[in-house]
Order: sequence, then C-alpha cells, then structure tokens
Amino acid sequence: MAAPYKSITLGNYSQDSTRSRVLVIYTGGTFGMVYQSKGKQLVPFEFEYALDYLPELHRLEREVVFLSLHQPIDSSDITPAIWAELGQIISDRYEQFDGFVILHGTDTMAFTASALSYLLEGLNKPVILTGAQLPVGIARSDARENLLTALEIAATRKDDGSPMVSEVCIFFNSLLLRGNRARKKETSQFNAFYSENYPVLANAGVRIDYNIPYLKPFEPGSRLKLHHRLDTNVFFVKLFPGIEPGIVRSIVATEGLKGIVLETFGAGNAPQAPQFVEALARAVQKGIAVLNVTQCEGGRVVQGQYGVSRRLAEIGVVGGSDITPEAAITKLMFLLGRGYAYQELCGKLAKSLCGEMSA
Ligand code: ASP
Repeated sequence: MAAPYKSITLGNYSQDSTRSRVLVIYTGGTFGMVYQSKGKQLVPFEFEYALDYLPELHRLEREVVFLSLHQPIDSSDITPAIWAELGQIISDRYEQFDGFVILHGTDTMAFTASALSYLLEGLNKPVILTGAQLPVGIARSDARENLLTALEIAATRKDDGSPMVSEVCIFFNSLLLRGNRARKKETSQFNAFYSENYPVLANAGVRIDYNIPYLKPFEPGSRLKLHHRLDTNVFFVKLFPGIEPGIVRSIVATEGLKGIVLETFGAGNAPQAPQFVEALARAVQKGIAVLNVTQCEGGRVVQGQYGVSRRLAEIGVVGGSDITPEAAITKLMFLLGRGYAYQELCGKLAKSLCGEMSA
C-alpha cells in the first residue's frame, strides 16, 4: 500500500463554523525551490520549508490543509499518472473541502490545468492552480501573493452559499484564467500567464473583481465523476516552411500512434504539396485522429477559409477552432483514453467538452 501523503493543517476552523476549508496540494515547482549548494540550479524542495516563509497562513480565518505529493517535482517532470493522482486526491476529499489549490511549476501548469478540466467531469468546486516565478525564500518572490489570493478565491462563496468559482483555473499575478484556456507566456516577468481567446475570469487588486458572465455557472445537483485514463499515443506536428513530407510520413507510420495535434499557420493553413497532404491523408485512413490547431496566439482555425486549408477538411482533419495546443493534446489523450470509436472521437474533438474552445 502507498504511504499516506504528508499533510499539515493550518488556520482556524471549528466544526460548526461557516468558514471554508481549502486543501492545498503541493507538487513542487519554483514556488518551494532552493538553490543547490554547489550550483546555481533551482531544485524542488519539501513543502515544510516553504511554509516557514508564510507565517500568515497560521492566522487565516479558515482551515487550510497542506498535502504534498510524495516527491516534489519540477513541473517538466509531470506525467499523466500524476494528473490522475491529483484527480484522485481531489475526488477522495471532494466532500470535505470547499475548494482546492494546486501549487505547481509554471512550465507545464497549462497542461495540468487542461488535463484536470477533462478528468474532473461535473466539477462544481474551485480547483485553482498557482505557483511562482521566484522561490518563496527570495525577498521579491511572487509566491506569497499568488498563494494567498488563490486561497481566497478557492474559499469564496456567493450569497447563496455556492462557490464563486466551480471550475479548474489558473491564478497568477492578479489574473484568474480558465485553466484550459491559459498559456504560459513569460519566463522572466511576473505576469506569466494569459488567455488570449477567453476573457479573464477575475482581476485581483484591492478587491477581487469577478467577471461573472464568463465563469462556468454552478450546477446544483451535478456530481463529480473522476476519469483516470489518458492515452499518451499522441504527438505534436508543428508546421514550418520546408517541412519534409517524408518525415511527416515516418511520424504517421509510428507504431501505436493514435492522435496528432497539427500546429498550422494562421487560420488553420498548411502546405498544399501533394506528398505532404498524402502523408496526412494516410494518417486519417489509419484511424489516427488529426486535430488542426493554429500557431497564432489569438483567433481560430477555420478550415476552408483559404484554399490551402480546404484539402485538410476534405481528407478528414478536424478543425480545433481556438483551442490552445495544451488543451488540444490533453483533450486527445483524454478522449483516446475513453476508447471512443474513430467517428465519435472526431465529433467530440470538434466540440467543447468543458469550455476549452469556442463553438
Ligand atoms: N521549472 C519550473 C517548473 O515548472 C518553473 C516554475 O515553476 O516557474 O517547475
């Protein structure tokens, strides 16, 4: 049997209190990193260390339980198995807590947020991912601000007692974003995330101003259904002028490959060279789902808007509208994991499952 998770309870809470309870799941990331003694590299560290720098957590007027993954990681080491583990942790404690905060490295935070948005079907409580650009032990760190506001958002209820936020989000540097719409845009400034194709869900200044019309509505009676399976037999093919059709053919011939996210030019455009189009047509004939996603930050794929994308639609490539690459690859993993037959899979790829793309 797996060892129990290390956890620490902070803040004040009594059983009959109306105060919220929030579970913080620490996965690692810059938030709690330290410099290795003999080098300049940042490496993940135990969460107790991070808590030493956050004395205000002990004074919160709510109960906050911190739980750490067995091994804190740099988020470059995140895996679908860890996404499933995070889903299980939330599902097992879903009734005990009003909201969840996941402390996560920024590098792959948008992938994790997207994956969780699919795995946690019927989610009706806040799951807020956050992290930091500078470790909590450094004086100018953004860690404290990001965590405290994420906690606030995860605990906030409307007047009727329902949660203000009932979806997977990323909170970073004053912005609350839909998780499966967000992308990391910055490695050095504090404003690390943005969501070009979906409005900001809240802005945290002196007050936290929620953009209510764009939040997923709370659905009374909706029950959480946790999915576990993600099929990783997927691949990104990013187009560039000069791409070798032979290389695309080799990728398509890869044994076990079931899905490709094709990162195209502009509004979903691709070269018309017959060998290139044939390589993609071969993929579709083999039952490999091909999802067309634009390389542009804003706007969307409209297959057929230009002559150069009409062929893609004709051979059976699925248009991905304004989905982000992160949300696209995790959606493919999720739908393949559900085991849908090819036509149904393509139908679901073309539609929004949980707000990840516009119709
Ligand atoms: N490499 C770090 C990570 O993603 C970067 C960060 O946390 O900002 O874990």
